[in-house]
Amino acid sequence: MAIKTISYAASDIGRVRSSNQDSGYAGYNLFFVADGMGGHAGGDIASALVAQRVAQADAIYDSAEKAGEILKDTIWQANHVLRDACQEHPELSGMGTTFSGMILVGDKATIAHIGDSRIYRARNGEVKQITSDHTFVQRLVETGRITAEEALVHPRRSVLMRVLGDMEEFPEIDIETYDVLPGDRWMMCSDGLCGVVPDSVMDRLMLSKIDSDEATELLVGEALEFGAPDNVTVVVVDIVGPRTQTEFIPSARFVGSGANDVVIDDRKGRRILKILNPLNLPDIILRRTEDPTDYVPESDEYLEKILRETRTTIRWRYVRQLATVILITAAIAAGVIGIYNWSQDRYYVADHGGYVTIYKGIKESLGPLKFSVVYKTTGLSIAELPEYQRYLVSRSITATDLKDAQRILGELTKMVVKK
Ligand code: CA
Repeated sequence: MAIKTISYAASDIGRVRSSNQDSGYAGYNLFFVADGMGGHAGGDIASALVAQRVAQADAIYDSAEKAGEILKDTIWQANHVLRDACQEHPELSGMGTTFSGMILVGDKATIAHIGDSRIYRARNGEVKQITSDHTFVQRLVETGRITAEEALVHPRRSVLMRVLGDMEEFPEIDIETYDVLPGDRWMMCSDGLCGVVPDSVMDRLMLSKIDSDEATELLVGEALEFGAPDNVTVVVVDIVGPRTQTEFIPSARFVGSGANDVVIDDRKGRRILKILNPLNLPDIILRRTEDPTDYVPESDEYLEKILRETRTTIRWRYVRQLATVILITAAIAAGVIGIYNWSQDRYYVADHGGYVTIYKGIKESLGPLKFSVVYKTTGLSIAELPEYQRYLVSRSITATDLKDAQRILGELTKMVVKK
């Protein structure tokens, strides 16, 4: 079955970064995001070079398998382009990029994925994450060593195990084929969206009937609302039936650094590779911060290291919680002691077993805690008092001090009704 797509791509530098190192592409049959990393300049060049090379695979294929093979080969060629660039321009060494994309053939979508950009699919009112992040933290989640909640706030959550770059000749790329159905909404994004905007907010826009272009812009807008600490790139692809009438005319659209030319700048005998983007200038003047994303080749030692860090974090959290409990308990105890000390200078006169009695402390209690003791019992029976004084004693009469309590007792004694 032939299907049609309506797609859109948008990218934003965000509110913190000095350059947009993301690239996005919404083409005819191919759609992807690439999130570059490394150095002052480098990440933007990496994602642009890969985007522009891989976009060349945007064609019509006989089968999803064939499309998958070609896509993977093209990604490896793009990886070679990066390696060559790093060899010729050593200042770029260490640059790399993620890649998460899909190519449509008939009613199939073949996914190619490396790194921590993501692909989601909304179908029948449900949003599903299709790709799995190639991060150490995700590995710890999958092996049950930390929880998904701990991963969300892990300080090393952006350290990648696998990326495209000058490190490996043929990096491992996840290739998978899925059915597509009319009504599906597929979405590709960099971690500037999924690492920043809560799932519930993303889901709402994924499941909405808002057109793909508006949904894309709203998703990017949400990342900006949430502070956009990183570049954010979103590509939305809506699958529509072959006979659906639309005004959408498919075209190839690059966004982010991939939308610019990568040029060689001859400067004082040095040939520097750079992105030709006049919009970058104000950001360089503003001197915003660089991307903290790291790439560390897959190793068990590193996995152990970040697991140790996780345990330390968890231990510190317990220590903090315990300290909070101790502090609150201490504050309550101090309060109780304070009330007790203050109450010990006070006296009142009240009934005790039918006799007028002087109490030391205050009548009020705090749960099971009492703040008064009997100070002096008397032989003065309550029954001997006039009715009104009987009533006052039954409610207790507060004295300012011991002398005052004795004065009240004297007054009461004088009022005894002679029988
Ligand atoms: Ca990023």
